[in-house]
Amino acid sequence: MEKACRTCKVIISQGDTCPICGVSNLTTKWSGYIIVLNIEKSELAKKLGLKVNGTYALSING
Ligand SMILES: [Zn+2]
Repeated sequence: MEKACRTCKVIISQGDTCPICGVSNLTTKWSGYIIVLNIEKSELAKKLGLKVNGTYALSING
C-alpha cells in the first residue's frame, strides 16, 4: 500500500519520509490521486498549492 503525506499529500511508494516535507507524517488512508507532470502549466496544481511534480492524493482520510 502506498502512503501519502498528510502535510503536502504527495504519494510515496518507498520509504517512510516525505521527500518534500522531510517528515514522516504519512498515512495509508487516502483516496483518489492526480499526477502532476508539468507543475508550471497545471492550473489544478496551482489551485491545490502544489510546488513539485509528482503524484498527489486528492483526499486524506486518516
Ligand atoms: Zn509532504
